[in-house]
Amino acid sequence: MLPDFGPSIFSEMTALAQQHGALNLAQGFPEFGPDARLIDAFRDALSSESAQYAPMPGLLGLREALAADQLHRNALRYDPATEITVVPGATLGIFCALQALVGPGDEVVLLEPAYDAYRPAVLAAGARPVGVALRPSPGGFSVDWDQLADSVTPRTKAVLINSPHNPTGMLWRREDWERLSGVLPESALVLSDEVYESMILDGSTLESPHHHENLRERSLRFLSFGKTYHVTGWKLGAVLGSARLTHALRNIYQFAAFSASTPTQHAVLRFLKTAPDYARELPAFFAQKRDLLASSLAESRFRPLPAPGSYFMLVDYSEVSDLGDRELAHLLTREAGVATVPLSPFYGSAPAGLRMLRLCFAKEDSTLAEAGHRLTSWASS
Ligand code: PMP
Ligand code: GLN
Repeated sequence: MLPDFGPSIFSEMTALAQQHGALNLAQGFPEFGPDARLIDAFRDALSSESAQYAPMPGLLGLREALAADQLHRNALRYDPATEITVVPGATLGIFCALQALVGPGDEVVLLEPAYDAYRPAVLAAGARPVGVALRPSPGGFSVDWDQLADSVTPRTKAVLINSPHNPTGMLWRREDWERLSGVLPESALVLSDEVYESMILDGSTLESPHHHENLRERSLRFLSFGKTYHVTGWKLGAVLGSARLTHALRNIYQFAAFSASTPTQHAVLRFLKTAPDYARELPAFFAQKRDLLASSLAESRFRPLPAPGSYFMLVDYSEVSDLGDRELAHLLTREAGVATVPLSPFYGSAPAGLRMLRLCFAKEDSTLAEAGHRLTSWASS
């Protein structure tokens, strides 16, 4: 029997935001809609022959377009037939990969703070999650390589990496992947959650395990079109990786979902063809929002940490309050009218004295400015 995990912190904070009519900078979804051309493509797809099941691994045309997109943007080459699987969201992709690839007796290393879906998925596979804390500093979070090396054992079957990282915004660099490959046993797999791969904000480029010769064959990358195209409700994503790992993934996935919704696949396929440079415009778009939110807090004692990737920013509130992070997040929702997410639920066992909240900046500029204003006024009252 699995433990009762209770509602996720994202559902908890969104419900609280709704109850108090607060601005919701908590759950990670955009306040704005997608590009109008994507909606048009979806509408057209509804009137075409897309009312029935798509092929199990996804529409071949979409897999080909994704292969072309990855080659164009990230210089990564995939065989659409054997190395790309379209799935109903990255969450299910990660869940199926874990069920397919790890089991009882195996350990899966998670770098904490870690996205909330990982730990339950590892446990559901019968494996043991091993949390390794990232090291916080005013300059952001980084990997403690000694601790990571100490946590890897002959039972380590996989390590789950998320870059750009939710909730810290941290990015993995080329040297990080090199060091990881030096620390991992040859047989260990890398599960690379890259749902924010198109949100690398300050001119850096994506560094993925698939750029690394020693990791290419033994890693899977997880993408989310919900995140990339501002359509989180569509629940569409893809898993990319070697034919061997893709075969194992599909073996389970065909029985977990079989296929992802057909009209959304047609819509993303057409959008990739009509707007091939869409993803290149996202970094500037989100960097402006991040900077707006950070500057709207400049007069307060909330201290934003650097946020080089994803659409999340952490703020240190140690100069504002001594309350625990969950308690403060609830209080700010009620009193300041701004919902945020506490950091501690991203840990299996949170370190004492965490004083950080996560703010999502995928919101309208007016919402971000107002949230900054409300938090600043609250903190000075
Ligand atoms: N991984 C991370 C790190 C996330 O923040 C999210 C939230 N969208 C997901 C996976 C889930 O993606 P999807 O909605 O495509 O399942
Ligand atoms: N990924 C989103 C976040 O981090 C939430 C998705 C969810 O609610 N499960 O806020």
